[in-house]
Amino acid sequence: MELTDINVIKRILGRHGFSFSKSLGQNFLIDPTVCPRMAQMGGAREGTAAIEIGPGMGVLTVELAKRADRVVTIELDTRLIPVLAETLNDYRNVEVINADVLKTDLHGIIAEKFGNMPVNVCANLPYYITSPILMYLLESRLPVESITVMVQKEAADRLCARVGSRDSGAITVAVNYYADAEVLFDVKRDCFTPSPNVDSCVIRLKVRKEPPVKVSDEEFFFKMVKAAFSQRRKTASNGISSGMGISKDKVAEALALSGLSPTVRAEALSMEELAALSDNLLKVK
Ligand code: SAM
Repeated sequence: MELTDINVIKRILGRHGFSFSKSLGQNFLIDPTVCPRMAQMGGAREGTAAIEIGPGMGVLTVELAKRADRVVTIELDTRLIPVLAETLNDYRNVEVINADVLKTDLHGIIAEKFGNMPVNVCANLPYYITSPILMYLLESRLPVESITVMVQKEAADRLCARVGSRDSGAITVAVNYYADAEVLFDVKRDCFTPSPNVDSCVIRLKVRKEPPVKVSDEEFFFKMVKAAFSQRRKTASNGISSGMGISKDKVAEALALSGLSPTVRAEALSMEELAALSDNLLKVK
C-alpha cells in the first residue's frame, strides 16, 4: 500500500467517509522521499523506540515501524483510528493511542512500554500547536535522544536561530536551553495534500544532557527571557521592567552588574549574558 499515492489516499479516506480538518492541521504528505529521510535522520533504528505525534494515515508511522523496534503514535482525531487500523495492519510493533498529545503522559508511556531502549520523537506536527508541543516535550524533560519534526519554515527559522542573532526570540532561548537545534531539509508546500499556504522544514532537536548555562532560578530565567523579548522594537530593559514589574533603576543596576549596555536589545544577548542578567536581577530586585 503506497500511502503517498494520492489515488490510494483518496480511495482509503473516501471509503471511511473522511474529510480533512483544517483546524486540526491536517495536511498529509504525498512526497515519497520525505518520510524515509525523516525516520532515518530522526534516529529510528534497531534497538530503539519511537514516539510519533499525529500519524494521520500512517505515512511516517510505517517508516518508523520498519526501522525501530517499537512505535507509539498519538492521534487526536477519532475518525482516523479505523483508517490507521487498516494502513498499519501489517506492523505488529505499532501502538496507536487516540488522545491529545498535550494531555498524554509521555513519561508514563516511555517507562511502561519502552524499557531501557533509547527513544526518539519523530512527527509531522499539526502546525497550530507547534510551540506548545515542543515546549511540553522539552520542559517535561522527556527522556529522549532527539525530537525530529516537520514545522512551518518561519517556525524553523525562529526555533533554530542562533541565540543573540536577529531571528532569535524567547522560544529560541527556551529551545536552546534544552536542546541543540538544527535545520535538516526543506519541504515545499506541494508535497502535501491539501497543500498548505506555507513551505515547511524538517528540524532536529538533539536533547542536551545539561543546559548550556547555569541559572540560579530556572523559572525566573524563563520569565525574564519572555519579558525581555516581549517588545521587539524596544530595549530588553523596557520589556523586563514592564513585564516583570521591576523598576527601571533595578533593571539598569542588573544590566550594569552583568557588563551590559542599558539600551541593549534582547535579540543581541547571548545565553551566557541572559543567564548573568537573570541571576543579577534576582540579587538586586
Ligand atoms: N503524519 C501525517 C503525515 O505526515 O501525513 C499527518 C500529519 S498532519 C500535519 C498532523 C496530524 O496531527 C493530523 O493527523 C491531526 O489529526 C493530528 N493532531 C492534531 N492535533 C493533535 C493533538 N493535539 N494530538 C495528537 N494529534 C493531533
